[in-house]
Amino acid sequence: MPVSKTAENTLAKKSTSANDGPEARTLTDGFHLVIDALKLNDINTIYGVPGIPITDLGRFAQAAGMRVLSFRHEQNAGYAAAIAGYLTKKPGICLTVSAPGFLNGLTALAHATTNCFPMILISGSSEREIVDLQQGDYEEMDQLAVAKTLCKAAYRVLRAEDIGIGIARAIRAAVSGRPGGIYLDLPAKLLGQTMDAEAGARSLVKVVDAAPRQLPAPEAVQRALDVLKSAKRPLIILGKGAAYAQADEDIRALVEKSGIPYLPMSMAKGLLPDTHPQSAGAARSFVLKESDTVMLIGARLNWLLSHGKGETWGDRPKKFVQIDIEPKEMDSNVEVAAPVVGDIGSCVKVLRDAMGDGWAPPPAEWLEAVNAKKQTNLEKMAPRLQNNNVPMDFHGALGVLRTIIKERPDTILVNEGANTLDFARGVIDIYKPRKRLDVGTWGVMGIGMGTAIAATVETGSPVLAVEGDSAFGFSGMEIETICRYKLPICVVVFNNNGIYRGTDVNPSGGSDVATTVFVKDARYDKIMEAFGGVGVHATTPDELSRAVNEAMDSGNPTLVNAVIDPKAGTESGRIGNLNPQSVVAKK
Ligand code: ADP
Ligand code: MG
Repeated sequence: MPVSKTAENTLAKKSTSANDGPEARTLTDGFHLVIDALKLNDINTIYGVPGIPITDLGRFAQAAGMRVLSFRHEQNAGYAAAIAGYLTKKPGICLTVSAPGFLNGLTALAHATTNCFPMILISGSSEREIVDLQQGDYEEMDQLAVAKTLCKAAYRVLRAEDIGIGIARAIRAAVSGRPGGIYLDLPAKLLGQTMDAEAGARSLVKVVDAAPRQLPAPEAVQRALDVLKSAKRPLIILGKGAAYAQADEDIRALVEKSGIPYLPMSMAKGLLPDTHPQSAGAARSFVLKESDTVMLIGARLNWLLSHGKGETWGDRPKKFVQIDIEPKEMDSNVEVAAPVVGDIGSCVKVLRDAMGDGWAPPPAEWLEAVNAKKQTNLEKMAPRLQNNNVPMDFHGALGVLRTIIKERPDTILVNEGANTLDFARGVIDIYKPRKRLDVGTWGVMGIGMGTAIAATVETGSPVLAVEGDSAFGFSGMEIETICRYKLPICVVVFNNNGIYRGTDVNPSGGSDVATTVFVKDARYDKIMEAFGGVGVHATTPDELSRAVNEAMDSGNPTLVNAVIDPKAGTESGRIGNLNPQSVVAKK
């Protein structure tokens, strides 16, 4: 970096002397208080990018036994922290430098907040006195003010003795109630502040019961049961809030006891295996339209569910039961007849107990209609998944990956893209909870490599990342990170030469290619080879199958460039209706 490192070096010396010098037992400093506070709260992993003023924070954290994973771009470190929070129910930590690094991390912080994932973005910042007078400090920016609108809560710590409280507040804010992203601002000067080591240790806070259970009111439970009991065509929708809750057994027990068909939202797939007899995944459009009563468990009626109204939901009147920890979520888009506010684990358990022994399953005609629709759709799909077309189409390639996940159900599937996302969501069955991680509520392109890295770091499971070629481009440089840490990640790039498709032409006839087109026949596999991983160029379903199975057996970082017919995709995938197209231009 072109900037003077004096400040950083001074801080480093001070804090080293705090631990290594003769007064090691008498002094501590901001660096070590931050690390001690995190460790005290069982937070042992940091995702970040080193630089001024937090380089030493990373070094000291690693020295103190924390796992500190350095990325090539803060946004990817942020996505890693966000998904770490989702997978562990503890806040994922992203550590960045000031202004530009902080800004790079903000997309992920906002993503975490939107998705209800607990995460803490910790950024170093420049000196308050200079920032507030706008005197032009190194990377000057009022980061706290900028972060506030993009997260659940934002805090700044100015005194070493407040670090313990600051981190405790950040942790509690991240995981309690509806989880979300937290910003924690640590000015450079704070990190270098020293204080008496014993007083420092006493100032740390171990957060007790960070995410307290919230039990639903008995009358709310009774109301929900009454609504469900009177239903003729009931449906349960499981969302990623349900997967986050880690109440897997209780959720399964409730669904099975109720006998009600259920639909998993994309990241709730596998909460019950997609092959479960009550899964209505293959009859999605049918059950949304025809149901008369819908119980939402940790799923919001946002755009992903067409706001609970319109064509998707048909014209029959519907009653909604909604289980959610956030009271404000009720009636967000349509009237909720039976709101059940509380944590999903508690709500689900209480509901199931209240069903008692005499609970009657839904009417047989409804169950038969759902099953008939399911069978028809599954039969229609089967031959498409076995096609051996070359170049491959989406279904031929995904049919292969579907078999691999069936045989290796502990694998975590990471998935992003447009068509690659839409088709994979439907085609690839998931068998265990939290084994499918994707673009989430915003449909973000770019979560891929950060998500894949944290998924294996946090769980030890191997990862299969199924990526559109465009989506992969947002985080592709993290292939180096994957190789550096030798992570068991197999990336399959669905390479169709462009965004949506690779066949668009420049309407002006000029020499630039169309806006949605990439280099033709690019070899993404070579990127992996550049860093010592395994690169494979796959043009047939057989080649694809062999390459992915070998990657899974070896655990070596692998990138398979899967050549997909450039004509195979559709505009914006399944959400083309959200992409306005000019009537004038079409004339
Ligand atoms: P999906 O996109 O899968 O439908 P959403 O992100 O829309 O899921 O919804 C998740 C919902 O789950 C949010 O409304 C959130 O408040 C809720 N939620 C998250 N964690 C819990 C929990 N532990 N208990 C109850 N509700 C939760
Ligand atoms: Mg593409």
